[in-house]
Amino acid sequence: MGADIDVGIIGAGPAGLTAGIYLARAGVSHRIYEPAAPGGMVFMIHQVENYPGFPEGISGPELASRMEAQARRLGSEIVQVEIKKVSKTSNGFLLQRADGKKDLCRAVIVATGCKPRRLGIKGEQEFYGRGVSYCATCDGAFFKNEDVAVIGGGDSAVQEALYLAGICRKVYIVHRRDQLRAGKLLQKKAMEKENIELVWNAIPEEVIGDTQVKGIRLRDKMTGKERKLEVSGVFVYVGMEPTTEPIKELVKISDDGFILAGEDTKTSHQGIFAIGDVRKKSTRQIVSAVADGCNSARAVEEFFLTSK
Ligand code: NAP
Repeated sequence: MGADIDVGIIGAGPAGLTAGIYLARAGVSHRIYEPAAPGGMVFMIHQVENYPGFPEGISGPELASRMEAQARRLGSEIVQVEIKKVSKTSNGFLLQRADGKKDLCRAVIVATGCKPRRLGIKGEQEFYGRGVSYCATCDGAFFKNEDVAVIGGGDSAVQEALYLAGICRKVYIVHRRDQLRAGKLLQKKAMEKENIELVWNAIPEEVIGDTQVKGIRLRDKMTGKERKLEVSGVFVYVGMEPTTEPIKELVKISDDGFILAGEDTKTSHQGIFAIGDVRKKSTRQIVSAVADGCNSARAVEEFFLTSK
């Protein structure tokens, strides 16, 4: 049976869209599958300051929609649907779509990225959407002039705390250690912000509230003492979990859940390529996702040439 398309790209974040851009320009037929808005995690960043070409910075949603527009203009087809499962056929792959349709392709580029990790504490799930959020850009405005807590000490937590500091009365950054993991520049900005307070060595134990969040209960790691922060919003930024569900039976996965592939984006399975945040690598940035997208398009072309 012939393939519907040459390449199925699963995910329309910066990596998947860049793969689309390069494949479109190379005249390779492809379809990008994305259940949510194109742009991936970039859509959730209020301001991107380290992507070259935007000296004043650019909002995440704006950058995402520009990438999408560029891919579409060049000929990428973007379909709003989730891919449930990828399976091997005699001469390619079958993509099982959530809408019940099945597409055949000769190669697959996995650009499924990551989703926000949950804290896993009492009240987190219960108050999701009622004060607990994983996206300051989406939900920050609901907390205008109120006090909120951001959980985590990485780039995401500090960057989004800075965004919230422009909207909220007070922002607590609650971190489980006494040193932030975030980059030095972000750290400096947070330290200088009058309405940001760092809460060190604090282990979140419970989100509390009635119909809405009223606060968060913390345990001091050093003294064992309990403390309650009265906040109406809890923004959780404690890292990312890779999305490998549709493909995990076909490719090798690292112990921490990422798809094993080198910079050439080739996975352990011929014809399957992994790019962006879902690939095991040391740097997770928009620029490195974009670079992966380019590399995968070249790798796919090479695969087609050698597998004929
Ligand atoms: P991350 O770097 O993995 O940081 C996660 C933070 O959450 C860490 O500070 C960690 O504490 C804390 N944490 C993890 N589990 C926790 C738990 N159960 N309870 C309390 N705290 C917990 O994740 P990220 O900040 O989302 O960043 C992900 C990747 O994207 C990184 O490579 C980052 O550099 C990149 N990124 C870059 C930018 C930028 O360049 N502007 C912006 C956003 C993200 P410990 O420090 O103690 O481990």
